[in-house]
Amino acid sequence: MNRISHWIDGKVVESTSGNSAPVYDPATGEQTAAVDLASTAEVDRAVAAARAAFPEWRATSLSKRSEVMFRLRELVDANRKEIARLLTAEHGKVLSDSLGEVARGLENIEFACGIPQLLKGDYSEQAASGIDVYSIRQPLGVVAGITPFNFPAMVPMWMFANALACGNTFVLKPSEKDPSVNMFVAELLAQSGLPHGCFNVVQGDKRAVDRLLEHDDVAAVSFVGSTPIAKYIYETGTGNGKRVQALGGAKNHMLVLNDADLDMAADAAVSAGYGSAGERCMAISVVLAADEIADDLVTKIADRIPAITVGPGDQPDSEMGPLITAEHRDRVRGYIDGASAAGASVVVDGRSGVPGDGFFLNPTLLDGVRPGMDCYDDEIFGPVLSIVRVAGYQDGIETINASPFANGTAIFTRDGG
Ligand code: NAD
Repeated sequence: MNRISHWIDGKVVESTSGNSAPVYDPATGEQTAAVDLASTAEVDRAVAAARAAFPEWRATSLSKRSEVMFRLRELVDANRKEIARLLTAEHGKVLSDSLGEVARGLENIEFACGIPQLLKGDYSEQAASGIDVYSIRQPLGVVAGITPFNFPAMVPMWMFANALACGNTFVLKPSEKDPSVNMFVAELLAQSGLPHGCFNVVQGDKRAVDRLLEHDDVAAVSFVGSTPIAKYIYETGTGNGKRVQALGGAKNHMLVLNDADLDMAADAAVSAGYGSAGERCMAISVVLAADEIADDLVTKIADRIPAITVGPGDQPDSEMGPLITAEHRDRVRGYIDGASAAGASVVVDGRSGVPGDGFFLNPTLLDGVRPGMDCYDDEIFGPVLSIVRVAGYQDGIETINASPFANGTAIFTRDGG
């Protein structure tokens, strides 16, 4: 059984906490590793390493910091396939999707290569009589990232690339469900010439997160994950005087109007609804269909679903992989059970014909969904697309605006206005 440990001060550090969590291959359902769960003392050790590394890294010239980012860019680029393989093995998403995730993450490193220009300040002459004012951008110190399972490479790259380039040092607490990839990325960062201690990974659960949120030496926290935890992180972190950005869950709607190209809308709904098994914060999970075209649209989406190849992410023909854990798969199934009990119709039922022993659920299409049903009100985060029928544009917009969720929305119409 593989053991996945921490990365502190430039090397692998095994935990002595005595706590660990299983890591699975979601395509087979088999446990492939155990990940250490940090004690508070281990979090303190990582923060101490980051704090010790800060003065020298902060004083490192912008050109040297950007050199590190350029080297990291080359190493991530050269290792795209290996990073994608690690992603697929623990997350389950198909390899093409994993490669797409690496590409999106890499964009953040490329952005950070331009740090000498990005960090420029401003200068105003004669802001008041005889007084000039200027602004400069400075690093905060030790900053922490707490990240979700669904983009285990990209979301940390959103955070650490720019944080490090700005001269901060970093402690990452990745999801305990797919922790391997960031141990590999930590090695690439070390090969890039980043001094020891600037980037650390503590594997862990709530205990590790809570320690980061209360630690006096952590200046800022960046979080991405579900809304209840985002609120908790925001309230606790800001309550402890830290700068916090916390991005939460989503329920993305697309509105299809009477004049839309229905084939185009159906293609988009299938790709955005079932890509990565719906485990994307930008997945479409609700299609608002104008009454007049709703039947046609439902038929077109339903007709496309059998063509989606569901299977292990490392198989070249697979287009949709499994869900992250058995518990999550069962939770998503529970929404399908609840939808039919609440009066929605299950047009395509993904509960049957599931391939293999992994955490699979096939694409599911629900019709007649309404606000007030759990399948509408909650973020499902699985391959379940809900059709809500609306009278038209105004009704659709009001429904979308009444949803408390972000992240995005789309309107399908041929009307440029
Ligand atoms: P999650 O909230 O369960 O976990 C996120 C992180 O918080 C993990 O590192 C986890 O270990 C930690 N955590 C979990 N429970 C905690 C607790 N009680 N106290 C302290 N820390 C805790 O999210 P997830 O299931 O890993 O990821 C999926 C969620 O992330 C979805 O809701 C998705 O919409 C959201 N997401 C949002 C965005 C965005 O940009 N808004 C991007 C990606 C994912």
